Amino acid sequence: MERKQYTAYRSRIINPLSSSRASDIRDGLLIVDKVGCIVFCGSYADAKNLKLKLKIIDLRQYLLIPGLIDCHLHLPQLDCRGKHGETLLDWLKRYIFPAEAAFKDPKIVDDVGKRFFKKLILNGTTTASIYVTVHSSATDHAFKLAKQCGIRAIIGKVMMDQNVPEELVENTKDSLRESEKLAAKWHNSCSGRLRYAFTPRFVPTCSKLLLKEIGNLASQSDTYIQSHIAETREENANVKKIYPEYTDYFSIFEDTGTVGPKTILGHAIYLSDSEFKRMAASKTKIAHCPTSNLFLKSGKFPFFKAEKAGVFLGLGTDVGAGTSMCLFSEMRHADYTQPDQWVDPVKGFYLATLGGAAALSMGNEIGNFKHGKWADFIVLDIRKIDYHYKLSDLTTDEVLSLLMYRGTGAVVKFTYVSGKKLDVDSLKLFRRAVGY
Ligand SMILES: [Zn+2]
Repeated sequence: MERKQYTAYRSRIINPLSSSRASDIRDGLLIVDKVGCIVFCGSYADAKNLKLKLKIIDLRQYLLIPGLIDCHLHLPQLDCRGKHGETLLDWLKRYIFPAEAAFKDPKIVDDVGKRFFKKLILNGTTTASIYVTVHSSATDHAFKLAKQCGIRAIIGKVMMDQNVPEELVENTKDSLRESEKLAAKWHNSCSGRLRYAFTPRFVPTCSKLLLKEIGNLASQSDTYIQSHIAETREENANVKKIYPEYTDYFSIFEDTGTVGPKTILGHAIYLSDSEFKRMAASKTKIAHCPTSNLFLKSGKFPFFKAEKAGVFLGLGTDVGAGTSMCLFSEMRHADYTQPDQWVDPVKGFYLATLGGAAALSMGNEIGNFKHGKWADFIVLDIRKIDYHYKLSDLTTDEVLSLLMYRGTGAVVKFTYVSGKKLDVDSLKLFRRAVGY
């Protein structure tokens, strides 16, 4: 018997097209080739004309959407979630730096790392941009786990050569050399599924020399840069004290050559109009992390100002300041944190999918079901929100609204990356031992 060349998923499919439009195919078919790329997304009736040999998987009781994209989170901070009572700089000192220092122990890295990736899969995250710690071995292990579990990820070793506790401070040259080695080993590995990000934590912990060298290395190797910017007023004042020669925060990134389409900056709460404009002009991206901003009482991200300036925005859970790994939660909090205007469900859906892909410079590869993109998608059971709901009775707006305001990881039935179903047990942990 001839082997089927294509796998087709028959389901209701909601597909983001822009920040204000999504298509909804009631009886849809997503056809995926052997490599894991999308060949067709449309109605089941139209697919018949293609005359392809299909292995059809019937998912008609479920909903199929693109995989969720988390543009900013910290692997070593998994167990730091919910440690309250401090704002950013004291929270880092009291909880985060000790947790990150513990990552010199490979057993801790393995334990936290496995649970971390498993939770991403359970929450329907198919792509994540991840900070590890200053430890090369921990970062290398994070890449190995990501390779093993099949997720798409940008991962980086944190770089810090000043203003941090002794056990975490790096020698500038060693930090650069080790990062370069990791980038050479992992960037674009696994058919481009894994990528490297030079990861200077934030300006206060980085010398100008370190930032400049990162700018050089990243542009030579076409890798990413991820960092934080303007998360709290106290941090901005601190930066002003350390680097008084600069007129504003963003100009430090500009001067050190660390801006550009592959730079993703977390938070960006306290920036001027001019800084947002320059960010947009340089195509530097923002990872907006609303639950984290609420948890640390950092302040309100000027969402509409950034959007109007033309900056690409994605969402980040920012675990561990974010308390969950669920992008549906970030969608609703992106709205809740704007008291005067709505971030509506279509826009929320876009931010967690196609918008996130654009923020990670992967808009041509993932984020929706355009022909030729990787088949990264999740299968959702809307009844897990409430058994009262019948998917076929709900309009597009009602479905997206339910996901945005009431969605949790429990809704996610299956998670696929490059057409391959991710197995939560590939990391050798019992599913029931791992909550969301
Ligand atoms: Zn962060």
